Amino acid sequence: MNVRFQNAIPIIETLERAGYEAVFVGGAVRDRLLARDIGDIDIATNAKPDVVQQLFAKTIPIGIEHGTVLVLYNDEAFEVTTYRIDGEYDDFRHPNQVVFVSDLEKDLARRDFTINAIAMTKTGDIIDPFHGQEDLHRKVIKTVHNPSDRFQEDPLRMMRALRFLSQLGFELDSNTEQAIIRNGSLLTEIAVERIAVELEKLVLGKFVTKAFETITISKIYKYLPIFQEHEKLVREAKTYMKSPFLSMAEWITLLHQLDSSITIEHWCKSWKLSNVLRNKSKLLDSVYKCYKLNGLRKGCLYLLKEAYISEFVHLVNTMEQKKTLYDNEVFHAYQSLPITNRSELQLNGNDLLEMVPNLQEGPWIAQLLKAVEEEVVNGTLANKKEDIKEWVWEWIRENN
Ligand code: ATP
Ligand code: MG
Repeated sequence: MNVRFQNAIPIIETLERAGYEAVFVGGAVRDRLLARDIGDIDIATNAKPDVVQQLFAKTIPIGIEHGTVLVLYNDEAFEVTTYRIDGEYDDFRHPNQVVFVSDLEKDLARRDFTINAIAMTKTGDIIDPFHGQEDLHRKVIKTVHNPSDRFQEDPLRMMRALRFLSQLGFELDSNTEQAIIRNGSLLTEIAVERIAVELEKLVLGKFVTKAFETITISKIYKYLPIFQEHEKLVREAKTYMKSPFLSMAEWITLLHQLDSSITIEHWCKSWKLSNVLRNKSKLLDSVYKCYKLNGLRKGCLYLLKEAYISEFVHLVNTMEQKKTLYDNEVFHAYQSLPITNRSELQLNGNDLLEMVPNLQEGPWIAQLLKAVEEEVVNGTLANKKEDIKEWVWEWIRENN
C-alpha cells in the first residue's frame, strides 16, 4: 500500500485497540483506485470526537460540530471524522444537526458522489455499497441517491461535480447533469466563499476546458457572480480555457484582460477572494500590460517576481493562443536583471540626503530613486555607489 496510507495505519490501529472501527474514506481512496496522486488522508470511525481527542496526544478540533478532529501524528495531519448522517438542511449551508451513527454504510450514504463514497480498510479491502468503483471505471460522476434531492440538501455539490469533472475528465451521469440544469439557481443561496473553493480547484484542473464547456451548456454561469451579468464574456472566455491554469490569480488576470471593464478589484470583491490573490493578480496584470506594450523588456520583467514566472508565461501563451514564451527563456532573462528589488540598489534615500544636506526631504527623493532604479534595471547605469552618485549630481543639475 502507498506510503501515505501506511503512515496512517497506526491511527486506525489505535482506534481499533480501543474497541472501535476505522477506515480510509473520500478523495484518497478514490485517487488511489485511479492511481492518481493522493491529497489529504481522511479516516472515518465510529468513535465519537471526544474519544478521538482522548486517544491521541496531539489533536485539533477543526470541525468538532461535524465530528471532525485533526490528528497530528509523526509530523503529518489526518482528518478523523465520526460516522454521521446530516440532519435537515434549512439554510442551504449547513445541516441543522449532525447525527453520529455507528454504521459505516449510513456515513457513506450521506457523501456526495458514488466515487467519493468508497471506504478502504487498513488491509486494502474495499467497501463500496454504492458501486463507486463501477463509476470510476465508467468515468462517471453520479450522486449517491437522487441527484435533485442531494443538490437541494446542499447546492455546493453541483459545483463540486463540475470541479471533479475538471480534475478527473469524467462525464456527468445524465440524471446528475439534468438535476444540475434544474437546480442551478440554488447556487445563489450558498456562501460565495464555498463556491470559490471549488472554483479554484476547477480552474486548476487538467480538464478545465470540459468543465467550462459544461458551465456554459448547463447555464450554471447564470448563478455565478459576475459571469451572470456577462454572458458575452463567458462565451469568449470559453475559447481561452484550453489548458489548466497555474493559479486563480492568473485566471482572474486573464478574465480582466478579456473584459477590462471588470476590474480585478471587482472580481476579488464579488468572489470574496483574498488580498494576497488580489495583489498577485494586479501584479501579473501590470507585467502583462507592460509586456504587451514593450515586449520582454527588462523594465517589465523587473515588475515580476521570480515565483510568478510560470504563471506569467502561461498567461501570455493563453492570451495569444499560441506558445510565444517559454519558462526557461523568461527565467533566464529574469536572472540576468541587474537588480530584482529596489533594496538591492547601492544607494538609498539616506545616501541622497547626505549628498545634498541642504535640501528638504520630500517627494523628490522617491522620484530620484525611481529614476536611478530605472537606469540600473535597464543596464544604462552600473549598480555601484560612485557611479550612481555621479549620475545623481548630473540629474540634480538638470532638474534645477
Ligand atoms: P480532494 O482530493 O480535493 O480533497 P475530496 O473528495 O477528498 O477531494 P473533500 O472536500 O476533501 O473532497 O471532502 C472529503 C469527502 O467528504 C468527499 O470525498 C466526500 O465523500 C465528502 N464530502 C465533502 N463535501 C461534501 C458535500 N458537500 N456533500 C457530501 N459529501 C461531501
Ligand atoms: Mg479530501
